[in-house]
Amino acid sequence: MVPQIVDNSAHRLRLYRPISPAKSTGILTEPSVACNQCADLCVRYAIRHPRELRKAIQIAGENIADKTIAEVIPESPCVSVSFVELAKGAVWDDVVEYHFRCLHCDEKFWLHAETYHGSGGYWEPKDPKSIRENITN
Ligand SMILES: [Zn+2]
Repeated sequence: MVPQIVDNSAHRLRLYRPISPAKSTGILTEPSVACNQCADLCVRYAIRHPRELRKAIQIAGENIADKTIAEVIPESPCVSVSFVELAKGAVWDDVVEYHFRCLHCDEKFWLHAETYHGSGGYWEPKDPKSIRENITN
């Protein structure tokens, strides 16, 4: 029997680029604004291309599926496609705007982009203090 290592996080894509392993001091010095569950999502991810929007949608969908975050639907949404449909591959509106919150620490996130004119947008925490990293491709 070959022992199997189970890593629940292995399947999950990450928005941020892998950082080189830090020197192990045994002390975590990460910002404490967000919890460990949503820390990977606390980045400002620039969306300037449909593939970047698709990736952001995919990652948000995976984090909903594993119950890290949940969609927050506004009273009068400005989008006609639900995020669930979008995550399944539906075509997005000219304006993309979806809201999410961490189920563990209530950190708020949103995905917003203007796709028609291609001016793009961001995946980001609503609180700028929670942004750990800016990612532009
Ligand atoms: Zn959290």
